[in-house]
Amino acid sequence: MRTVDEWIGQTDNTRAPPRVRARIFDRDNRCHLCGQPIQVGQKWDMDHVKALINGGENRESNLRPSHRKCHVEKTAKDVAEKAKVAAVRKKHLGITAAKQSIPGRGFAKAAKPDRPMKKANPPAQLYAPIQETRR
Ligand SMILES: [Zn+2]
Repeated sequence: MRTVDEWIGQTDNTRAPPRVRARIFDRDNRCHLCGQPIQVGQKWDMDHVKALINGGENRESNLRPSHRKCHVEKTAKDVAEKAKVAAVRKKHLGITAAKQSIPGRGFAKAAKPDRPMKKANPPAQLYAPIQETRR
């Protein structure tokens, strides 16, 4: 059997041509994400096993068939992972500050000293008592 050279995308945006898609599909027609076979008529995509945004290469050996549905889910996860990694890195390099500091609990109220209550003074006499003066 004649061996074929591995297809390598010119750029990351280069789509695998139909013959390469067919070759990859013929190698294994199961979705490499969920393991189920891809049925006739089901929509399927080429998935980059290692996502391009996470350093994967656009070449035949990094491509596997996957259901459209499974692929969309994986892409969302890859993007989330990328964003998380980028955020951690930026924070580490001091490019961006932490979004928010964790608020402290504050200080506990000091307990009242345990002293006996002072006896209150008798009410002050503000006015002299009225002298009943009858003439
Ligand atoms: Zn699948």
